[in-house]
Amino acid sequence: SIKAPATKQTTTLTVAVKCRPLTEKERKRGRDIVRVKDDKEVTVLDPDLSKDYLDRVQNRTKERKYSFDYAFGPDCTNSDVYKTSISSTIAGVVQGLNATVFAYGSTGSGKTYTMAGTKGDPGLMVLSLHTIFDLIKSDTSSDEFEVTCSYLEVYNEVIYDLLEKSSGHLELREDPEQGIIVAGLRCIKVHSADKILELLNLGNSRRKTESTEANATSSRSHAVLEIIVKRKQRNKYKNQVVRGKLALVDLAGSERASETNSGGQKLRDGANINRSLLALANCINALGKQQKKGLAYVPYRNSKLTRILKDGLSGNSRTIMIATISPAGNQYHHTVNTLKYADRAK
Ligand code: ADP
Ligand code: MG
Repeated sequence: SIKAPATKQTTTLTVAVKCRPLTEKERKRGRDIVRVKDDKEVTVLDPDLSKDYLDRVQNRTKERKYSFDYAFGPDCTNSDVYKTSISSTIAGVVQGLNATVFAYGSTGSGKTYTMAGTKGDPGLMVLSLHTIFDLIKSDTSSDEFEVTCSYLEVYNEVIYDLLEKSSGHLELREDPEQGIIVAGLRCIKVHSADKILELLNLGNSRRKTESTEANATSSRSHAVLEIIVKRKQRNKYKNQVVRGKLALVDLAGSERASETNSGGQKLRDGANINRSLLALANCINALGKQQKKGLAYVPYRNSKLTRILKDGLSGNSRTIMIATISPAGNQYHHTVNTLKYADRAK
C-alpha cells in the first residue's frame, strides 16, 4: 500500500517565565523567594527556611531549580518580555503565519498585567499591535493590508463577546474556508494601536469575575484577543489574499478548584476551568513531543478554548507560553505548580 507522505509541519513552542515584583503589601510581609539567573534559570527557595539558614548552608537540596527558553525577573518590563520572546513572531504574522501567545499562572501572578499592561508599561497585546502597524507602515510592496480584532471570553465553556456590552452565548461553527469560527463575534477594523488598551480595559471589565476565598478578584474566564492581518497581494496575474492570525490569551487562574474552598456554582466553574486548562495542557504537551520527536496527535477537540486556538497551535505556527509567577512566600505552592507545568511543556 502507498502511504501519502506526511507533510512535516511542526509548531514551534517557546516557554518563557515572568516573575512579577513583590507588591507593597507583600514587601512588608516578607522577602521574595524567587531568583532568576542568566535570563533562563528560575530558582524557588523554600519559604519555611529562614534567610539566615539559607545564607549559612551550602546544601541547596531544598531549592527547586528550573530552566526555560527565557526567564524574566521582577525588574523586567513587559517591553523586555516582548522584545526577547515575541517580537520576531509578529513579522511572521504580517507575512501570513499564525501564532498563539498565552499567559498561564495562578490568580494574582501577573497574567493580565503581562497581556494588557498599563499605560506606562503596555502589555504584549498592545505591543504586538504596535509592531503590526509599524511593519505595515514600512512595507514597501504595493500590498494592501487590513487589520481586524476580536476579544472574547470562555467562561464555563460558554463563549461571550467582550466587545459587546451584554453579549449572549456564542457558538462555534465550522466554516469551509476559514475553519473554526465564532458565529456572531464582533470583529472591528483597527487602523492604529492607539485605542487598543482602552478597548482591552473595557473588555476586561466585562469579564466574569467572582470573589472566592482564594482571591477577591479571582478571574475564572479565559480572554482571547484575536488579531487578523489580511494582506492583499497584487501581482501580475491575480489578487491573492494572505491571512495571518495572532491569538493572545489571558488564561483563567491555574489554581486548582480543590484549593478554592467554595461549592455549588463556583465549584462547577473550577471544574470547567480545569477542563479547558487540561485540554490546553494536553495540546501543549503534544506540541512539545511533536517538536522533539516528529508528528504526534494533538487533541484540539476537547474544549472550546483549544478549538478556538487550533489554527495558532497547529501546522506551521508558533506558540509562546508565558508562565507568570509571584515571588511572594505565601504563593510557593502555586509558583512551583506553574513552573512544573511550564517545565513539562518544554
Ligand atoms: P492575574 O491576572 O494573573 O490575576 P494581575 O495581572 O492582575 O494578575 O496582577 C496581580 C497584581 O500584581 C496587580 O496588582 C498587578 O498590577 C501587579 N503586577 C503584576 N505584574 C506586575 C509587574 N510586572 N510589575 C508591577 N506590578 C505587577
Ligand atoms: Mg487577570
